[in-house]
Amino acid sequence: MEKIPSFQLDHIRLKRGIYVSRKDYVGDEVITTFDIRMKEPNREPVLGAPELHTVEHLAATYLRNHPDYKDRIVFWGPMGCLTGNYFLMRGDYTSRDILPLMQETFRFIRDFEGEVPGTEPRDCGNCLLHNLPMAKYEAEKYLREVLDVATEENLNYPD
Ligand SMILES: [Zn+2]
Repeated sequence: MEKIPSFQLDHIRLKRGIYVSRKDYVGDEVITTFDIRMKEPNREPVLGAPELHTVEHLAATYLRNHPDYKDRIVFWGPMGCLTGNYFLMRGDYTSRDILPLMQETFRFIRDFEGEVPGTEPRDCGNCLLHNLPMAKYEAEKYLREVLDVATEENLNYPD
C-alpha cells in the first residue's frame, strides 16, 4: 500500500504550531484540515490521554458554540500519537486565518472552571478519562510558548 500524505510529512523537523494538513474538495466546498500540534514529535513527552480528551471536549464545545464560526466547524479530534489534534473547517483557510480562533479556544480551555461538558456516562465513551487541571496546564503552555509568539515556522510545515 502507498504511504499516505500525512506520513510523508517530515516529523523530525516539525515544530509545535498550527498547520494546514490538507484540503479536500467535496462538491463545490473546500474542507480545510488543520494540524493543531501541541508537542514536538518524538522530541518531548506527549500529551496524556486524559488531558487530550478534556481538550477535545472543551475545544469542540467552544467551537460549536462560536457565534462567527459554529456553522463552519466540521470536526475536532485527538491525534493517535498524542502530540496534537486534527481540526476540520468548511472553507478555504490558512493557518494564520485561524490563529486568533485557536488563541480564543485555548484561552477558553486555560480559564475553564466547573464541570467539563459531556462527561456523564451517557454523553461520552470513557467519561473517567479526563484531567481538567492538566488540560488547563497544557493549554496555557501552548498559548504562551507557541500561539502567542507564533512565527512562520509555527504556521507552515517544513519544506
Ligand atoms: Zn469523550
